[in-house]
Amino acid sequence: MPELPEVEVTRQGIAPFLIDQKVVDLVIRNGALRWPVPDIAKQIIGQTIQQVRRRAKYLLIDTAAGTTVVHLGMSGSLRILPLGTPVEKHDHIDLVLANGRLLRFNDPRRFGAWLWCELPEEAHPLLAKLGPEPLTPAFNAQQFAAALAGKTKAIKLCLMDNHIVVGVGNIYANEALFAAGIHPEAEAGKIDAERLTLLVTAVKQILAQAIKQGGTTLKDFTNAEGKPGYFAQQLHVYGRGGQSCSQCGLPLSEIRLGQRTTVFCGTCQSR
Ligand code: ZN
Repeated sequence: MPELPEVEVTRQGIAPFLIDQKVVDLVIRNGALRWPVPDIAKQIIGQTIQQVRRRAKYLLIDTAAGTTVVHLGMSGSLRILPLGTPVEKHDHIDLVLANGRLLRFNDPRRFGAWLWCELPEEAHPLLAKLGPEPLTPAFNAQQFAAALAGKTKAIKLCLMDNHIVVGVGNIYANEALFAAGIHPEAEAGKIDAERLTLLVTAVKQILAQAIKQGGTTLKDFTNAEGKPGYFAQQLHVYGRGGQSCSQCGLPLSEIRLGQRTTVFCGTCQSR
């Protein structure tokens, strides 16, 4: 499943091909995604793409008439291809540009989304209640402490709660808690400022590192042959339940927390 780093690397990969380009067509072959894809050909054809932004795991393709909001869901990917590239299975949408290229959305499981929004994007129901971006100064120990105050839930569930901070998926929550030495079941509201600072730093470092790594392995968004895959990373705990901890050598524990696989070291991570 694409996580925030994949979405950000996708944004960086496609943006140079889209910005300042005029849209000449929108082809919807299968609009049955997570939500029905609106027929926005009338609104978007003739518009020039101004910016390609990211908010949480949503990509925002801005024009003066409105913003196309794209989510990759469980299995979605975007590529930049020459006009006339044969359509393959699961190629659901093409945004065709005046420069002879198109942005093609492929999504085998169809949990992705392709929506249109004419409001300021912050007001869109999907985006309105999102917490701060983890890689911006808006996500910091003070803000995080305030958001967690009085919360008795497990810290891992809070870290994965988009209202508190966006884009920290299961893999990154596991890894960041390990890096900060915090037990995933620790009561969120009781973690002191010093440890929250460590956790905020770990989240930022792990996501930034993943984006950097992904940028090198996923740099080609214009290759018609290979689809941009999701990148594997060097992981300390995620997917390593029962194996030895990279810090102390003892076996890592694996539990279910909020229906998600949770791996941690009972020695190196404390409540
Ligand atoms: Zn350990």
